[in-house]
Amino acid sequence: MKKQWLVRYSEIFLKSDPVRRQWENTLIANIREVMPGVHVRNERGRIWLDAEVKPDLLKNIFGIVSFSEVEHIRLDEIETFLPDFCRRHGIEEVKTFALKIKRVGTHDFSSNDKAVEYGNLIRNEFPHLRVNLAHPDKEIHIEIRANEAYLYDNVTKAVGGLPLGVEGTLVALVSGGIDSPVAAWMMMKRGCRILPVFVALDTFLDETTIARAKRVVEVLASYQPGIKLTVIHDSYLASAKQELVQRHLEKYTCIFCKRRMYRVATAFALRNGAKGIVTGESLGQVASQTLDNLLVLTDAASEVPVYRPLIGFDKEDAIRIAREIGTFTESISPASGCKAVPAGPSTKAKLETIREIEAKLEASSLSLPV
Ligand code: ATP
Ligand code: MG
Repeated sequence: MKKQWLVRYSEIFLKSDPVRRQWENTLIANIREVMPGVHVRNERGRIWLDAEVKPDLLKNIFGIVSFSEVEHIRLDEIETFLPDFCRRHGIEEVKTFALKIKRVGTHDFSSNDKAVEYGNLIRNEFPHLRVNLAHPDKEIHIEIRANEAYLYDNVTKAVGGLPLGVEGTLVALVSGGIDSPVAAWMMMKRGCRILPVFVALDTFLDETTIARAKRVVEVLASYQPGIKLTVIHDSYLASAKQELVQRHLEKYTCIFCKRRMYRVATAFALRNGAKGIVTGESLGQVASQTLDNLLVLTDAASEVPVYRPLIGFDKEDAIRIAREIGTFTESISPASGCKAVPAGPSTKAKLETIREIEAKLEASSLSLPV
């Protein structure tokens, strides 16, 4: 008998053969990255790992739907092995059980034949047991593949999604608040490697906010090993603010700030081969996230798409995911926040006015910092 780990993945095997192979290879490379030295065997729809595996690491690998610690034997060993397996897995302490048989390959018996045969074997050995298929105290699984059998009694759910990297790279605008790390994580889950960027609008943001964003990104490292926050310093907002005060348009400050962030992120994306930007906006949540303002923001980043996976979320939805993925505690840790926010920020910006002021500011050589 050999102890192994059976890893299940879902959407990958719906793909055409070349895409499937490529995605499986990416998934295997991602597993090896967090568990160097692990021996990996791949069969259509399944990955087998031979090693001391840390379940907490497997859980966070995108593309894995669930996994089980299994005992691998030959098919012809089942009759002698099964009672001992059941005993070691606590069957004497339960009242009801269900046997789940899965069969892959050509055999001269059906899964049902084996369910009856092995079910009887278990009940003869442990006469106190009753079968309960709907709500058993214990499930015993036997997966038969050609002449091999895998026995297990546990299925651990993993994060799911697509293997990290199969879709390419996105730049994530990460403020360190609750929403943006969740947004970045959601795109990671759909196969995007993330380059997280914090835009430090010097004089309006201090180190506590940057430090919080770094801590939040460290939490995301358990999903994307080695992920690192890039902090880009930019003095544009100080000049923009002066101009806006002069024109009595201070209410536009947040819009100017966000447009600048989008442009910084666009430049960073183009330089680093990323295919778009992801942000944490959700419709109507704050003043800068109205449909009118999002129109103005999208205009600022016209060269690459902007993904907003939280756009239809209620705040509670984002909080729930933040708790699940572990970023919530860091996101609500104290940080001083932005000191440039005006008393009554605009919820309806005029694109013409904004473009005109921006053109003037940029003509006075405020080049992008990336
Ligand atoms: P979050 O919870 O992510 O802080 P929020 O709901 O507070 O978002 P805003 O402050 O309006 O919303 O920011 C909208 C989005 O702009 C954020 O989700 C994030 O993607 C991006 N963003 C805001 N501030 C910064 C920053 N300093 N650096 C990088 N991105 C930022
Ligand atoms: Mg914020």
